[in-house]
Amino acid sequence: MNPTESTMRAIVLQRPRELFVSEAPMPQPAEDEALVRVRATGICSTDLMVFQGRYSNRLPIVPGHEAAGVVERIGAQVSHLQVGDRVVVEASWGCGACAMCLSGEDFFCANRVSQGRTRNGTFAEYLTAPARAIHALPPEIEFNDAQAIITVACSVRAIRRGRPDMGDRVAIFGPGIAGIILAQLARINGASEVVVFGTRDWRLEAAHNHGASELVNVRQDHWALRALALTDGQGFDVIFEASGNPEALFDAHRVVRTGGRIVTFSLYDGPIDQFPAQMLYSKEITLIGVRGGAGGYPHAIESVRSGAVQLGSLVSHILPLSDADEGFALMERKEKGVMRVVLTP
Ligand SMILES: [Zn+2]
Ligand SMILES: [Zn+2]
Repeated sequence: MNPTESTMRAIVLQRPRELFVSEAPMPQPAEDEALVRVRATGICSTDLMVFQGRYSNRLPIVPGHEAAGVVERIGAQVSHLQVGDRVVVEASWGCGACAMCLSGEDFFCANRVSQGRTRNGTFAEYLTAPARAIHALPPEIEFNDAQAIITVACSVRAIRRGRPDMGDRVAIFGPGIAGIILAQLARINGASEVVVFGTRDWRLEAAHNHGASELVNVRQDHWALRALALTDGQGFDVIFEASGNPEALFDAHRVVRTGGRIVTFSLYDGPIDQFPAQMLYSKEITLIGVRGGAGGYPHAIESVRSGAVQLGSLVSHILPLSDADEGFALMERKEKGVMRVVLTP
C-alpha cells in the first residue's frame, strides 16, 4: 500500500481470542516520530497473553510489539533517520517528559508506552514511534531475524541485571526463544556452564544447539539432584527464569547456590502462591526483576550482526499478517517445532 493513502490493514483483537483483519486509519508521525512500514513482526509469549485475555490491557487493540521494517516518513525534528532506512522499533519507550526520562533513565519511567498493550502494536502494515525508539539495522540482518532483536535487547538487559561473571555457572529455565538467546549471551559473557532446564525435550535440544552445555528435563525424577551434581553440589551462581511458569521460580530456588541470584525474565499473569520465602533467607538469594530491553538495543543489534547471537534457526514459521489467528493457534498448540512465529504484512 502507498503511505499517502488514508487507511492500512491491521489485525484487531476485539475480545480475547477474537481477531479480525481491519482497515485502520494510516498513523501519522508527530514531529519527533517516524512512520515505519512493517516488514516482519514476531508473535512473542507476551502477545499470546494479550490474545488470551491474561494481560490487563484495554481492548480492542492491535497486538504485537516486536517488529522490523522500513522508514517511510519522518517528522520535522527527526535527524538520525532517513526515509528508506531499514530499522527495528523498540517494544516500548518512556514518556519523554517525566524526571526519569529527562535524566536519561527512561527504563524507570512509570508511564512507559508499550506497543500492543498500552497502545496499538505492530500487527499492522504501518506504525509510528518516536525516533529515539528506532534503530537502524546493518545490512547483514534480515527483517525476519530483526524482529527478534527486541527479545535479544530484553535478554541483554537481563544479563546486565543478573551480571553473570567469568567462570560462573548459569542456569536458564525455559528453552523458548528468550531462554535460548539468554544461553547464547551467557556464553559470550564467559559463563563456564550454561545449563538449560525445561519440560520439552525437542526444545532442550534446540538449546543444546545454541550454547547450552547441559540439559535438564524437570519432568524427570531426581532432576534437582542431577542439576546440583552438575555444579559439584554447590548450586548455580545465576539463574534466569524465562519460562513464565511460577513452579519454575520455585525450582530455581532449589538449585541456586547460597548467595546466588535469580533473575525473573518472565511476565507472570498473577500472584504466586506458596512462594518459598524461607529459602530467600536461608540461602541469602537475591531476586531480580527485569522489564523490557531499554538501553540494550545497540548491543543486541551488534550481537546479531556479528553472529554471536544466532536467530535464524529460531524462526520456525513465517505467515502472512492476515493469518495472525493461525500464528496464535500454532503457539497455543505447543506442537513440536514451533518456536518463533513471524507475520509479514
Ligand atoms: Zn516480546
Ligand atoms: Zn517518563
